[in-house]
Amino acid sequence: MSNLFYQGRGRKPVLDQARGVYMWDKNGRRYLDGSSGAMVCNIGHSNENVLAAMRRQMEKSTFGYRLHFETEASETLARRLAGKMPEGLDRVFFVSGGSEAVESALKLARQHALARGAPRRWKVISRRPSYHGCTLGALAVTGYAPLTEPFAPMMQQMPMIPAPRAYLEGFDPTARETGQHYADMLEARIEAEGPESVLGFILEPIGGASTGALVPPPGYLERVRAICDRFGVLLIADEVMTGAGRTGAFLGGDHWGLRPDILVMSKGLGSGYAPLGAMVADRRLVEPVLDAGGFAHGFTYAGNPLACAAGLAVMEEIDRQDLCANAAAMGEILLARLGGLMQRHEIIGDVRGKGLLTAFEFMSDRATKAPLPKHLNAHQRFVDIAYDRGLIVYSRRTRDGLEGDHVLVCPPLILNGGHIDELIDGLDGALAQLTQEIAP
Ligand code: PLP
Repeated sequence: MSNLFYQGRGRKPVLDQARGVYMWDKNGRRYLDGSSGAMVCNIGHSNENVLAAMRRQMEKSTFGYRLHFETEASETLARRLAGKMPEGLDRVFFVSGGSEAVESALKLARQHALARGAPRRWKVISRRPSYHGCTLGALAVTGYAPLTEPFAPMMQQMPMIPAPRAYLEGFDPTARETGQHYADMLEARIEAEGPESVLGFILEPIGGASTGALVPPPGYLERVRAICDRFGVLLIADEVMTGAGRTGAFLGGDHWGLRPDILVMSKGLGSGYAPLGAMVADRRLVEPVLDAGGFAHGFTYAGNPLACAAGLAVMEEIDRQDLCANAAAMGEILLARLGGLMQRHEIIGDVRGKGLLTAFEFMSDRATKAPLPKHLNAHQRFVDIAYDRGLIVYSRRTRDGLEGDHVLVCPPLILNGGHIDELIDGLDGALAQLTQEIAP
């Protein structure tokens, strides 16, 4: 009996080592990491330069409390990170993960409203489905029923608008009118709530786990920005999954020139080498909060020098190996090859993504978009089949977490053509097996 408290696919093999895109268990079995863990290990496993930088930092210091010391590692990383942000976003607040980063963003937005004399602004509109983290504040802006419902009495669920799932709802995902249609729902919602009560709008530029690599329709993000500006609503970009090169640009929003007021990152920022997250905000937002007495928020491990040294070395690797460009190039090939799998396997109803954030969705009928029957639990079964074939992928229920199944294919950004062949072969075999198993 293990004394750990986890859930998942029963008793899992014990991890022994990991290198590049591969992982090995204690029995010597090799796995291709087709999901970078949970879309985390962007630069691949056991990168020697990152390990060396962490060793160097460990020899110097592993902890310095933020109220006592600045550290070189956090200062340098903050500067490097700010250099990759949209113009104006240059105030960095480090945390240890995505949920902490989202909490920080919500609280900064609220304190900014107080500092500028707008205490009635507290609602942060979000989208359904969406995932922004598992702490109660982050859950309040998460639109994913199985994760939020148990805690409903303990939190204030924020207003939601539909995520732009054009492919499911009969709209042309390539048309500007589609982008306008979905963005206009934000405007309507702000008006219905009362603009003076709305503090912010949070979104992932490209949907991650909850929607399965959902790329927004043209014009959507631009119009969302304009609507937020019109109503004085802060735009919060959750780049926890899409940041650090995952989608073929350093930030997911870079594909559309998105300029949020607050941006949060984690996952690929530490790339699995250390728990690390960041909130980056416009200095014009931060300064009034500091002037009004300071940010009433902070975590003990914030700006941990070892985590920041790891993050800095990760960023150097992203630049040195030009991993954003590789993610863009490999992502195009991967998406085309997933399209090929869709032609061969009837159960795939949609393929989508950008860079190396890609996904396919199972459907029982492509024409009606009907999901597979829920009791089949196809997304979980597929992950297990793939795992037994030495391939790690990540899956979720698609439709508000209640039904539908999608599988995320998000390998490390160091991927090459040979890895793609191996990945596609593994998926092909697993799809054939799933189809056979669920055949009536
Ligand atoms: N935001 C997004 C978009 C995420 O995908 C996640 C995690 O999957 C989070 C926030 C929460 O991050 P963490 O699990 O590091 O707290």
